[in-house]
Amino acid sequence: MIPAKPRCPSETTSKVTPNAAILLAGGLSRRMQGHADDKTLLPLEGKPLFLHSLETFLSSGLAGHIVIVYRDDSHKERLSALLPANRKSVSFSFVQGGEERMYSVYNGLDSLRENPPGLVFIHDSARPFISVPLLLSLAHAAQKHGAACPAIRVADTLKRATPEIPASLKPIRRENLWALQTPQTFHFPTILKAYETAMSDHIPLTDDTSALSHIGRKVQLIENPAPNPKLTTPADLPLLEFLLARSK
Ligand code: C5P
Repeated sequence: MIPAKPRCPSETTSKVTPNAAILLAGGLSRRMQGHADDKTLLPLEGKPLFLHSLETFLSSGLAGHIVIVYRDDSHKERLSALLPANRKSVSFSFVQGGEERMYSVYNGLDSLRENPPGLVFIHDSARPFISVPLLLSLAHAAQKHGAACPAIRVADTLKRATPEIPASLKPIRRENLWALQTPQTFHFPTILKAYETAMSDHIPLTDDTSALSHIGRKVQLIENPAPNPKLTTPADLPLLEFLLARSK
């Protein structure tokens, strides 16, 4: 599928609400190797990492309801202290995460059944660089195609290596290879059904488009020209700090 470039805000219509966002913060931050008790609360450029994503969603006005997926009660308390007071146009709810990301997402989706949104954005709050134009592009594309995902073309040479040392390397053709990011954005009933099917078929999911692929549905890729790195290990911190300082 030919990826679309992000559209600028003026190109989009406002007929995409009411939508919801699931902000994932329920991980254990194990790969931070003790540098942060919880990476989503790590202060970066003066505010917790989680707040960078939350503020972008709030400025976009694209999510009328935000589900925050937390780790445990004390984490929930610390996250709720970050929510803005007197936000009449948006409601919040908290849902406890699961053992793996896929269970955290499912818990978030499950919590939306009673008041199903039109679209749902599913976002790793460990990615602080989302922008309002990106959210608008995703909403527009998901409205049209049912599913949209920010992505970049893979620039490195990739090989499949055997486990022994030294390894035998098998080439992987680079064309049509994409690295996927979040927020991944979907028609709510479609992603809910996709998750239910993937989970009952015991399919491991490391992202949300994988659930759609499992039920044979297509995804509109949005080629994201802006950096959108995720804080995963301590080695990611200098780049994130540099990019955040530059964006001020
Ligand atoms: O661990 P990783 O960085 O890949 O996690 C991506 C996002 O998913 C993070 O924002 C993390 O808090 C969230 N997550 C979650 N529940 C899990 C694992 C990860 O909400 N069980």
